[in-house]
Amino acid sequence: MLNIALFGPPGAGKGTQSEFLVKKYNLFYISTGDLLRKEMAGRTKLGLEAQSIIAAGGLVSDEIIVQIIENTITDNPGSNGFLFDGFPRTYIQAYILEGLMLKLHTSLNCLISLNVSEEESVRRLLNRGITSGRSDDNEAVIRNRLREYDEKTRPVLQFYRDRGICVDVDGSASVEDVRARITEIIRDELSKSLFNVVLFGYPGSGRGSQGRALAKAYDLEYVATGPMLDQEIKDGTETGRRITALYESGQLVPDEIVVQLIEKKLAASNGVKGFIFKGYPRTLVQSYILDALLKKHGSSISRIIEIEVPTLELIARLDERSKTDRCMPYDSSTAKIVKRLQEHETRTVPVIKKYSQRHEVIRVDGMGTFDEVFGRLSAVIEDGFKSMR
Ligand code: AMP
Repeated sequence: MLNIALFGPPGAGKGTQSEFLVKKYNLFYISTGDLLRKEMAGRTKLGLEAQSIIAAGGLVSDEIIVQIIENTITDNPGSNGFLFDGFPRTYIQAYILEGLMLKLHTSLNCLISLNVSEEESVRRLLNRGITSGRSDDNEAVIRNRLREYDEKTRPVLQFYRDRGICVDVDGSASVEDVRARITEIIRDELSKSLFNVVLFGYPGSGRGSQGRALAKAYDLEYVATGPMLDQEIKDGTETGRRITALYESGQLVPDEIVVQLIEKKLAASNGVKGFIFKGYPRTLVQSYILDALLKKHGSSISRIIEIEVPTLELIARLDERSKTDRCMPYDSSTAKIVKRLQEHETRTVPVIKKYSQRHEVIRVDGMGTFDEVFGRLSAVIEDGFKSMR
């Protein structure tokens, strides 16, 4: 996700720049000023409470802000992230934003501070007042708004400077120049973010071979937990010995081992553009773990794809494979194949369901030749890359 906050005194150009950013990056726009004006127009309880404060150029209470913003943020339909305009405006709101982002397993990428002088702000707002119809765009109220900004809002900058995510922009330049500078900042930000794909599909759907081919074509790191465990055994590591013992006693490899291996992989993969996870997460617990692991690296899942293949075709493919040298011990009989398909049904399908409540799960038809399926999957990945830029 790309989450940006536009910061600056009234009249700095936050609203103007927002229009273009929302379109270009498919962001969900949250302007607390607009939300409050909507509440006032609807004469709701919150709107009525806020009315006199806004008219005087004061700041509405943090309690009101948290209520209007929480509903909006959780209603967010499949956008690439959020653009905050006029929020956070107090230190408390900065903490509120942290909490809200955390709840969505994400974080603010950067706060762009548009700097303009007080006189420039007043000049622009008076100008806007001629057409905006906003009762708070008159000189006495404007001066008060700027005073509130200086006292309560400007100190918020330090909160973000301390976190190293505040970027200053000269807001007195032309609209086009400010836009170009912001585009540059976001481009830098995006180049830091990883593109992570979770590839689901029943055994036999082609997720392994397609996953490897996609990773190669798009410079992503392929992460398949099965081969990672095998590698530990081959390397004769301490973890490998633990895994062998578990295999021999017929036990499942516990999540804590898999977590450590994925952690290692994420930490060692400097310079990759992202990851393709195949065969992970397999259970609900693992889905929470993956979210947390990616979050720790300032990242999140970008695309979730499920390759769909009818059951009879899956059985036919796995049966075919069992007659070749690619036969896996767990595919050596029809009974074993059916058991694996059932295991997927009971353990992993609920994970996909859970994901589809929060994220879009893109279903791709897995029938046809390898190249046909690869083409469909590539289109999804390319579309994902595009919406990151
Ligand atoms: P704006 O449209 O962002 O200039 O906001 C107009 C007015 O709404 C401000 O002067 C405040 O009175 C109120 N307001 C908007 N956002 C906030 C916020 N995050 N915290 C407190 N008051 C706000």
